[in-house]
Amino acid sequence: MVVGAGINGLVAAHYLRRAGHTVTMLDRADRPGGACISAEATVDGRTQAYSLGASVLGLMPDFIFRETGLADRLETYVPTSAKRVYFPTPTANAWIHRDPVALDQEFRTRWGETGDAAGFRADEARVAAFLQEGYRTATPPDLDRARHALGDTLTRLWITGSAADLLDHYFTADRTKIYMAMTVTESGPISLTEPASAFTLPLMDSGSVFEGYYGFVKPGLWRLTEELALINREIGVDLRLGARVERVDPDRGTVRYWAEGRSIEQPFDHLLMATDPLTAARLVGDTETVARIEGKRFLGTSGKLTLFFRKPVRWKDAPEADAAFRFIFSMETLSEFERATTTVRAAGADYEPGYIQIYCEGAAMRRLGLVEPYDRLTLFFKNLGLGARGEGLDHIKEQVKAQMLSYIANPEDCVWGRLVSPRDLQELFLFPGGNIDHTELTVGQTFADRQFSADMRARFYQFGPWDNLSYCGAGAYPCGSIAGTPGYMAVKELLGILG
Ligand SMILES: Cc1cc2nc3c(=O)[nH]c(=O)nc-3n(C[C@H](O)[C@H](O)[C@H](O)COP(=O)(O)OP(=O)(O)OC[C@H]3O[C@@H](n4cnc5c(N)ncnc54)[C@H](O)[C@@H]3O)c2cc1C
Repeated sequence: MVVGAGINGLVAAHYLRRAGHTVTMLDRADRPGGACISAEATVDGRTQAYSLGASVLGLMPDFIFRETGLADRLETYVPTSAKRVYFPTPTANAWIHRDPVALDQEFRTRWGETGDAAGFRADEARVAAFLQEGYRTATPPDLDRARHALGDTLTRLWITGSAADLLDHYFTADRTKIYMAMTVTESGPISLTEPASAFTLPLMDSGSVFEGYYGFVKPGLWRLTEELALINREIGVDLRLGARVERVDPDRGTVRYWAEGRSIEQPFDHLLMATDPLTAARLVGDTETVARIEGKRFLGTSGKLTLFFRKPVRWKDAPEADAAFRFIFSMETLSEFERATTTVRAAGADYEPGYIQIYCEGAAMRRLGLVEPYDRLTLFFKNLGLGARGEGLDHIKEQVKAQMLSYIANPEDCVWGRLVSPRDLQELFLFPGGNIDHTELTVGQTFADRQFSADMRARFYQFGPWDNLSYCGAGAYPCGSIAGTPGYMAVKELLGILG
């Protein structure tokens, strides 16, 4: 039995079924995908789909993409042009080239960087390769193993240490550090000085579906979870939608869920929770486990603004690079970046401008041959408080939009926008604190601590003290994203026991 048909539940169900097990999946929603689904908007009589949650693919292991059959059934596009970075001082705007020599030159001339960018890349590649090997072999994270493979210095710098120390070790310029630090704060308000905050850097670069780069799926990333649900049904997974689980009784081995207006009880021999961890704890209902998980850090600070344009967006600089990723920073010093990240944690704080990541989804779709009514951009931005729903934050929506529109030649073509806030993510997707990784990626909740097992040495993905429960949602190692790695690793661990 798998509870939750987000990417992790879908990947877990797939590998269990392929190993010959009978698999029932339950999801409260009326469609699969969790936080990777579409929405639609109708503007001037024309309807356009867009990604409501996740937009870009990059952290999935290549073997999951291939082995599930997704690689054969999806069309993808990965921008090859350099990424564009904007700072308040226009002369500091830079291109993030793929070619390392050109990139180092750009760092030097634009940002005055005199550090060891090549050393950073080489060491990060070593750590990422170590993580990828662990994913493939489904080996739970372990500090002793890391020290054995990477040595004490790299383990301290890249896994147990702070992002501030890691960046100081390799770089000299604040703008380089800010650009690199973006990853650390993507899902939550993590201080760069927190222990283990360094680990988010190699973690977010450990995807292999596009060799560490990020790309797009036609007509949107939601197609990936839809397709995996179809594949799962074809191989015999019993996927039940509109089935809200209300109680899991591990002692009796039963699950009670609500579907089609009635309460249904069903037995299981093993149950994998692929929900957020707080929901998992509350479904099992054990006070000690609930209290332990309630004590975790859950806060998210990401806003997502989707914009539609009547005509294709024309970037003022390099209009031909219309599908390139673009990043707008609101500050130029690391201390200002840190202040903006962490002050929004305070109750009542609504918005501290940080950065905007721009995914040019419409341009990517044009490269994939898709003709759509409107061009569309996704603006994933920082730092939003947990207080209000997106529909009540028009002033912030306008501020973020204006910042982005200043870089394009046809702002008048923007005809529609929707802001989704951390509060919306709580309500839409049940993310406990609005964090896109379910829980913050921070000390005590990352690497070997990113699990909920009463005995992690015996079984890392076990949920609490129960032999017949596993947890494999985004709250488990390695993290969230449209990757499916926790789902895969939890199943491999289980198959090692069940056979
Ligand atoms: C705005 C936004 C932008 C993002 N951008 C990206 C991106 O560009 N790229 C990327 O890789 N990732 C992105 N992410 C992160 C990514 O979407 C998540 O980390 C990932 O979807 C988590 O997958 P999951 O399967 O662990 O959990 P979820 O997707 O949260 O799925 C959990 C499932 O459990 C179900 N469930 C919960 N309670 C019950 C119950 N009681 N009974 C039955 N079912 C239940 C839910 O309905 C849901 O389907 C983004 C997320 C958001 C919200």
